[in-house]
Amino acid sequence: MVYALGIDIGATNTRIAVVDAAGKIVEVERLPSRMAEGAPFFEQVGQQAQRLGEKYQARAVGVGTAGQVHRATGTYLPGLYPEAPWVGVPLRDLVAQATGLPTFVDNDCKIHAYAELKLGAGRGYTDFISLTLGTGLGGGIIANGELVHGAKGIAGHMGHISIDPSGPPCPCGNRGCLELYASGTAVARMASRLLDRQVTSPEVFRLAAAGDELALAVLEQMARALGRGLGAMANMFDPQVLILGGSIMQWYPLLEEATLRSFRSSAMTELRDIPILLSPLAGDGGVLGAGLYALDQLEKVER
Ligand SMILES: [Zn+2]
Repeated sequence: MVYALGIDIGATNTRIAVVDAAGKIVEVERLPSRMAEGAPFFEQVGQQAQRLGEKYQARAVGVGTAGQVHRATGTYLPGLYPEAPWVGVPLRDLVAQATGLPTFVDNDCKIHAYAELKLGAGRGYTDFISLTLGTGLGGGIIANGELVHGAKGIAGHMGHISIDPSGPPCPCGNRGCLELYASGTAVARMASRLLDRQVTSPEVFRLAAAGDELALAVLEQMARALGRGLGAMANMFDPQVLILGGSIMQWYPLLEEATLRSFRSSAMTELRDIPILLSPLAGDGGVLGAGLYALDQLEKVER
C-alpha cells in the first residue's frame, strides 16, 4: 500500500495522520497548535511527521492549515492577521526539510473541499462548493473536478462575501461579511449581546434546541445570512451541489428551514433547486484531504 502523511493545522489542534491511497487513516498523532510561536512550532510538526513518515515509508506530505499560504512559495501570507508571528514562515520548506518528502501545503478549508471530492458528499460530482463552519467560515471550490486555487492560491474565502454593506466591520476590511453571522464565533457574539451575558456557541445551539426564543432568533439570523451567502455562491458558480461541513453543522436541522428559505430567495430561478448536502466527514476531513491531495499532486509532478 502507498502511504502519505496528512497534516491538519487548526487554530487549536494539529493532527498528523498516516493516510493510505484508499483514504483510510492508519495512524494519527495529535498536538496542540502553537502557531503563535512561529517557525519553531512548524519545525516540531515537521519532526513529528518525519518519524511517522519513516515508519510507513510515506511518499509525500500534504498540509492543510488555518490561514493563507502562497501557492507558489508555500509561505504564510498576512491574510486577516498581518502582524501574526506565522506570517512569512516558509511552511512548505520547513516541513519538506524535516521530512525529506515532497510537501504540498494549502488552506485547511480548501483541503477539506478536496476531501469532499474524494471521499465525502462531493464524490461523483465535478462542480461544487464546500463550506466549513466552525470558529470561522471557510470554503473550497471544485470546478471541472479540480480544486480552484486562483492566481495566488487563496480562492474560496466564502466567509468574506459581504451580505450587508452596513453590517459590522470585519478584520478583512469589509463590512457585514458572511463569517460575522454564520460561524461559531458569530453565534456566540450575537447571542451574548442579546442575552446580556457571555455564552458559547454550543450553549446557544442547545438553548435553541430546547426552544429558547432568543437563541432561536440568533439562529434565524445566522440561517438567513447563510442562505444569502449560498445564493450568491450558486449565482456565481452554478454548482451541482453545495456542501456544508464543520463542527457546528451538527446543528443544521435547527437552521435548515430558514437557510433554504433565504437561499431560494437569493439564488436565480434555475439555481434554486441545487441540493444543499451535509458533509459526512466529521473531524477527519482535514487529514484525509491533505494526505490524498499530496498523493494526487505527487502523481501529477511525476507524470
Ligand atoms: Zn471579511
